[in-house]
Amino acid sequence: MRIGIIGAGHAGVEAARHISDRGGEVVLYSDEPFLPYVRPRVVLLAFGRVDIDAITVRPDRWYRDRQIDLRLECPVTHIDVHTKTVTAKGQQERFDALILATGAGPLLLPFVQKLPDDVIPIWRARDSLAIQRRLEGAGHLTIVGGGISGLEAAAYSREAGVEVAVVEKAPHVMALQFGPTAAGVLARRLRDQGVDLRTGRFVTDVLKNDGELSVMLDNGEAIRSDLVLTTVGAVRDTAVFAQAGLRTDKGVIVDEYQRASEAGVFACGDIAQRNHIRTASIVLAAEQGRGAAINAMATLTGGPLEPVADRTIPLSFRHDRIEFHSAGVPAGPGLEEKVFSDDGEGVCRSVVLEGDILRGVQMVGSREDFRRLADSLGRPYRDRS
Ligand SMILES: Cc1cc2nc3c(=O)[nH]c(=O)nc-3n(C[C@H](O)[C@H](O)[C@H](O)COP(=O)(O)OP(=O)(O)OC[C@H]3O[C@@H](n4cnc5c(N)ncnc54)[C@H](O)[C@@H]3O)c2cc1C
Repeated sequence: MRIGIIGAGHAGVEAARHISDRGGEVVLYSDEPFLPYVRPRVVLLAFGRVDIDAITVRPDRWYRDRQIDLRLECPVTHIDVHTKTVTAKGQQERFDALILATGAGPLLLPFVQKLPDDVIPIWRARDSLAIQRRLEGAGHLTIVGGGISGLEAAAYSREAGVEVAVVEKAPHVMALQFGPTAAGVLARRLRDQGVDLRTGRFVTDVLKNDGELSVMLDNGEAIRSDLVLTTVGAVRDTAVFAQAGLRTDKGVIVDEYQRASEAGVFACGDIAQRNHIRTASIVLAAEQGRGAAINAMATLTGGPLEPVADRTIPLSFRHDRIEFHSAGVPAGPGLEEKVFSDDGEGVCRSVVLEGDILRGVQMVGSREDFRRLADSLGRPYRDRS
């Protein structure tokens, strides 16, 4: 049994592992020049805190030992879902089943295309290496986007002695994970470390004059910068799959077995869309990669299919001076935020309730009881504070 996996990230590598474990033959296509790497670590890579070799998902030997045919710099440009034929670098190859694991890419604001050497998205290893080179001698950095990667980059910038501004369009940072109270505590911590945080503002343009960048804000202010990094969201490129006749929306539509709309074709990780797009997560991508592999093999051997859980994974970040954790929903209509500790010193713990049902938990500067609360989402909340 020969299975083609398109995309060698967290989902694709895990799918390859489970196919080879079950005696299947795998070709794993990657459009990148590096061994598959841990994507969240691209922020560390950008700030020169790790080498590319230190962030690989598996060493080179692992692929060879398992006879996984990893093809780097081999972008798939066309697929035929009926014959399971893949075209890459002009060569066609036929498989018994296909697994789509191409992930997502950075949402590119118009000024990224205009000044590609000066305005760089935080996403891929090759961009991080470019950021690393550009940071040498840079004194002022602007980060567009106050989500987890933006704040992580801001923390490393300050440690490197770089002046940093973060521009966030939402009224508070990390709006996808935090309500206003916890986000306010986080913002205070960042400001105490010297981060120039501009919330409720958006960037209208980036201008370059005599080698100097001006980041223009909607209120007319300009922030002087040597380099601009963007981290404002994700997009999924479904064009090849839609052209092939698969059902797509924001991603490739799959069922609970990771099956796409054509028999023998599966999708997993960021490119897969079940009921709606879940917050991206390496844990979820690996779980879906495993599910896609097991179900692809089962389809070919006539074995039973295994459903894959559709769940939201908690998000955690720990750094010497900043720590935050979030699970479930941050706020919303019909939801009440209950703050059960805000010590004014940078520690905040809160829960989000719908009636007495626990819908979210958020912590800054502490993770006391976080795991228990995250595991209790969807159940009645019992106050132990
Ligand atoms: C900066 C950043 C920080 C993050 N931080 C966290 C975090 O702290 N915790 C967390 O859980 N998640 C985090 N995420 C999200 C997490 O990295 C993703 O959810 C995860 O990588 C998804 O895995 P995937 O295998 O679906 O896609 P990816 O890991 O993105 O891999 C997809 C691969 O497919 C390749 N590809 C695309 N098209 C083709 C093609 N046509 N042919 C061949 N190859 C192709 C891509 O280049 C890529 O190498 C972060 C993401 C980013 C960008």
